[in-house]
Amino acid sequence: MLITGLACFSLFAAAPTQLDSSHNPNIQDYLAFPSQSIALLDVDVLDGSGGPALTRQTVVLSNGRISQIGPVATTIVPEHAKQLYLPGHTVIPGLVGMHDHTHMPGQTFLGEVAARLWLASGVTTIQTAGSADFQAELSLTAAIQRGDMPGPTIFPTAPYLTGPDGNGPMHKPETPAQARQLVKDWSAKGATWFKLYRHIQPAIAAAVIDEAHKQGRKVTGHLCSLTFSEAAQMGIDSIEHGLISATDFHPQKSDGQCVSSRQGLAALDIEGEEVAKLIVLLVEKQVTLTSTLAIIESHFAHRPQGEARSLALMSEAWQQAYQRRQRQLKNNASSMPDEVLAKLMAFERRFVQAGGHLVMGPDPGRHVLPGHGNQRGFELLVEAGFSPPQALKIATANAAKTLGQAAQFGQVAIGFNADLVVLKGKLAADARVIRNVELVIKQGQVYDPAKLLEGLQGRFGPQLLQD
Ligand SMILES: [Zn+2]
Repeated sequence: MLITGLACFSLFAAAPTQLDSSHNPNIQDYLAFPSQSIALLDVDVLDGSGGPALTRQTVVLSNGRISQIGPVATTIVPEHAKQLYLPGHTVIPGLVGMHDHTHMPGQTFLGEVAARLWLASGVTTIQTAGSADFQAELSLTAAIQRGDMPGPTIFPTAPYLTGPDGNGPMHKPETPAQARQLVKDWSAKGATWFKLYRHIQPAIAAAVIDEAHKQGRKVTGHLCSLTFSEAAQMGIDSIEHGLISATDFHPQKSDGQCVSSRQGLAALDIEGEEVAKLIVLLVEKQVTLTSTLAIIESHFAHRPQGEARSLALMSEAWQQAYQRRQRQLKNNASSMPDEVLAKLMAFERRFVQAGGHLVMGPDPGRHVLPGHGNQRGFELLVEAGFSPPQALKIATANAAKTLGQAAQFGQVAIGFNADLVVLKGKLAADARVIRNVELVIKQGQVYDPAKLLEGLQGRFGPQLLQD
């Protein structure tokens, strides 16, 4: 579609600039070694295109870009390149997280600790999908760009926009004119995306979408007052969370009213005509859907909860809040039945089978941490029925395309940014290999995950938490 094409082009212009931060002393402590040119030899490559693994490959990186890929037996490595023999390893594109807030519940800004955890977990780019502290998010974005601290490239999102019933520090424009002004102001300050939240009213949403596109920005939404169909008709670029937040199937919803989508889910026929019609519309309108299975899983009592590695990073206050919440979840008779999770997964699979564009993000919160949640989200896509190469495409190349960066990153391909992850093991055969991060390469800089994680224990979340 012409509109989408234009939006992509303009967003490209608005993307964070890539600075050469290689000589900034602040990141040297986190590097495995300094190098301008590297050859990764005898690796498997899952390139992010969705195709099968290429085995016994050599990948050469020069000046922050991927300069060569080919069979190890025939690829000539430049003399000056540092050579790393890595049989039994898989090279993938850096993960691109598409629902990766820089804050946690209670609006605690995470900043550098999250930036390091993302990078250590193989996430080299994030779109934040709503900010709680816009200035802090912009400062973090700029600090990482300058190389003052390690972290992923950030596409910042303006503060959430919602309606009169919305909570917290979110913005609640009362007229379309006010909404347009906010969009102009935040675009000028550096917001690349806008996030509509659950109580946004239709006329305000339409104004935000229209103005954002005029400014070359994109709009996503955690919807409720708008159905997915309504938002798609308005030209929204992206919708978060999948079927769990779709109010399209509620029998008594009135215009602009936020109703519970959950009660209807158990009865909804995923194979039925209503769902099929919605998918056709989303595909036709080129709406991206963001899978957030990691945070969704945390609402199901019988699913794996609270990874030990994540708990170890949390502050004591947050650990206690987490344990309290776990007890509530286990005792709560209204915890959703496990079949609902299976339905949410089936919806995502069906959407992709119909030609839909799916991306992925963890929605960090509660006990889903940045980075860990991106890896878990990948595993859950595989559980949902995607092959590891397909799930990786969702977590990399698809996301880059939604960000207007399809030719810059998100794939292991010649000329692309050297944003790569070296995993120990064969990811094509085992989704859990996504956790075995040995090296993270961002713009050609080779980071050591152990150095990035050093000293982060107990630093996630506030020291005091009100629940
Ligand atoms: Zn969120």
